[in-house]
Amino acid sequence: MSQIVLPLSLSTITKMKQFYQASLAEKLPPGAVFVAKTPHCTITAYHSGKVLFQGPGCNAEADKWSSEATLLKPVKAKTSLPKQTPGTHLPANFSQLSVVGSDEVGTGDFFGPITVVAAYVRNQDLALLKELGVKDSKGLKDEQICEIAKQIKEIIPFSLLTLHNEKYNALQQSGMSQGKLKALLHNQAIGHVLKKIEPEKPDAILIDEFAKEAVYYQYLKGQKNIQRERVYFSTKAEGVHLAVAAASILARYAFVQQFEKLSKLAGFTIPKGAGAKVDEACARLIRAKGKDVLPQFVKLHFANTEKAMKLVKR
Ligand code: MN
Repeated sequence: MSQIVLPLSLSTITKMKQFYQASLAEKLPPGAVFVAKTPHCTITAYHSGKVLFQGPGCNAEADKWSSEATLLKPVKAKTSLPKQTPGTHLPANFSQLSVVGSDEVGTGDFFGPITVVAAYVRNQDLALLKELGVKDSKGLKDEQICEIAKQIKEIIPFSLLTLHNEKYNALQQSGMSQGKLKALLHNQAIGHVLKKIEPEKPDAILIDEFAKEAVYYQYLKGQKNIQRERVYFSTKAEGVHLAVAAASILARYAFVQQFEKLSKLAGFTIPKGAGAKVDEACARLIRAKGKDVLPQFVKLHFANTEKAMKLVKR
């Protein structure tokens, strides 16, 4: 249920009791000054100065009084999930540490593989990477990403794993979820990088969060070599440490290269994403090469497969 708590002065609470006179309830919970029930909101004022607004109309009702709140902003009740700013739960000065970051590309694309990269960026390499243009790849075009990737792949230790669609489809059909696949790939890529940089150890490992930590380790249950030491998760991790930004750029680069290969195989440029364009392209591919080639090109369980089949039958 939606609810809002406002800290209000006792004089405001007295005013409110007057205001809600016609809707006052008789039964009061312990510590309450009054309870009022309007059609869309229940208001409970406490001697502590907290006033609780509950129900679908709680925002509108609380708005009437929020200007009198003793704090500048209405305090939301703890039952609503706090919005965590990416990275705030990490060790202090995290962006300056030597970190292994990992990220993946291609999970939402109908055509093309999933690429996962774990990359190690030392504190002393941060300035250089920034100089080379490494940043959140969402603000970068594919051409820029490829240019940056070509340079940084010579500089930083990384591990790239490419899960081609033939194998992806087989694993998916055997009942493995995409989440589990991703967890396996991230864990493996991180393990590879840690091996590469031995005996050096990173200050931390940061995974761009695609699943909550507990779920991630659930996926990895029964695996050998599960990386747990100093492993952190953050949403939007590309903006939290350059190691994840670099991993993302390298993964995107590998993905784009695979796309070019697939386009050559198909005989035309295949589109990214999972929109109507890919349905058309898949139909074209089926007409040209037959549907038996699909497992090599696409993630079969996407709804796009059916849509493309329908286009072909038309
Ligand atoms: Mn990601």
